[in-house]
Amino acid sequence: MSNPIPHVSNWINGAYTTATAQTIPVLNPATETPIATIDSTPPETVHQIISDSVRTFHDGPWSQTEASDRFAVLSTAARLLRARLPEFITLETRQTGRPIREMQTQLARVPEWLEYFASLARVHEGRVTPFHGPVVNTLTRLPVGVVAQITPYNHPLLIATKKIAAALAAGNVVIVKPSELGPLSVLQLGPLFQEAGLPDGVLQIVCGYGSETGRVLCASPLLGKIDLTGGLATYRAIAPVAAGNMVPVTAELGGKAPVCLFASVEVERAVQAALFAGFIASGQTCVTGSRLLVHGGIYEQFRDLLVKRVGALRMGDPMDLNTQIGTVISRAAVERCEGFVDRAVQEGGRLLCGGRSMTGPGGKGFFFQPTIIEAASDSYLACHEVFGPVLALIRCESEEQIVSVANSTPFALGASVWTNDFTQAHRVAAQIDAGIVWINGHHLNDPSSPWGGFKESGMGKENGLEAYESYTKVKSTLINYGVAPTWFDDGVTNARYG
Ligand code: NAD
Repeated sequence: MSNPIPHVSNWINGAYTTATAQTIPVLNPATETPIATIDSTPPETVHQIISDSVRTFHDGPWSQTEASDRFAVLSTAARLLRARLPEFITLETRQTGRPIREMQTQLARVPEWLEYFASLARVHEGRVTPFHGPVVNTLTRLPVGVVAQITPYNHPLLIATKKIAAALAAGNVVIVKPSELGPLSVLQLGPLFQEAGLPDGVLQIVCGYGSETGRVLCASPLLGKIDLTGGLATYRAIAPVAAGNMVPVTAELGGKAPVCLFASVEVERAVQAALFAGFIASGQTCVTGSRLLVHGGIYEQFRDLLVKRVGALRMGDPMDLNTQIGTVISRAAVERCEGFVDRAVQEGGRLLCGGRSMTGPGGKGFFFQPTIIEAASDSYLACHEVFGPVLALIRCESEEQIVSVANSTPFALGASVWTNDFTQAHRVAAQIDAGIVWINGHHLNDPSSPWGGFKESGMGKENGLEAYESYTKVKSTLINYGVAPTWFDDGVTNARYG
């Protein structure tokens, strides 16, 4: 008899709860077999979790702690996570289908987010403003309350930790709803934070479908903030209700990152850049370099070498250290990739390599070949997010054209500029409308570096002081040591108003 699939329940008020009546299977995308089930949390339970969380916030076991205590808990959580990385890496690989080599490298840095925001909590200072007259004006930052964090499947642990670390550092109570497609590593954070000393009920992890559990959570007027990483459609579902409730939203949404490759770059390096930008995570990152804008001066050489290198990429079992390309997340994602390829070809695009779904070792799995399509800059492929390994290769004849194409989609998240011409690097970077521009790099990331897009790529930032402060509200306190309240007294000249 085969082992039953484990069920991992919500982590609420410091314990895994009883399983909900309805559950959701979590598949290993490389084998299509369920590896666990999770809760499908109904509305009444979501409401109860929110009201428990509001009480915990007001009771103050975390919101009223000293900065030094928050520093200690987050630093300890970082140490515990670092010690447990092997188990997190295995779990992340199994639930996302991403190669274990990627998960080893990505997860090794995740504790840095906890350390960074622990440090920020400890050193962040208020201000005293210049104020007219004998008045001292202090500005202090307070936590915003109970925050909902809605996270995606592509970097489950990294993105949840980024958000959780910033919110906890600022003293908030967090309700995180991970993606139903990859929730398992996030669910392991509950006991880890408890062991680190976080009071029960300060980190709540609730699972379910976005359109059900996530929708109910985000519709609550009791929230202090919503922080979403996901697609534009999800933002559009959440934002009107949040606006009505006057709940602020940070939105980290999709992208169509241009990789701008100029003729001064060695062709080998240009191809290395394109491979990394385009195919890390099978193209399932918000900053996937999904548009290769290549200057005519190197175009043919670049294209030929790129096609050769793509053909040699090793796709296969994500648990194999030798594997370079894993799966996409689901059958729906495979079908989306197929749809993009078909439409690009119908529109006159030229399929240079890839383009087909594949299966893994057991004839199963949601694999899609790394794909390059020569396409027009205004084609559907070049203007819409695939979130898969299907790249548009676009020939450009001038710097002006590269800049113009780079800025031609509704997205504005990440962009990279590759050139050996120092002045061109600065000139082009300055003209690109994107929240993050890398010069001679792509997808470089650090907890201290603000991350977020413009236009339809979202608003607000993760990382850095910006993220920390977005989890606070500013309180202005005015201490009067000399302005007499004589306004309505007769015979007083120069009474002060304002
Ligand atoms: P998604 O929008 O489908 O889901 C994201 C989360 O939102 C999930 O937890 C989901 O359950 C939840 N959700 C869905 N509908 C909801 C609703 N009506 N109310 C509340 N919650 C709801 O996105 P995904 O497919 O998981 O991730 C891919 C998208 O995320 C891409 O567009 C990608 O570019 C974007 N992304 C952006 C960044 C960034 O930093 N800007 C990073 C990673 C991913």
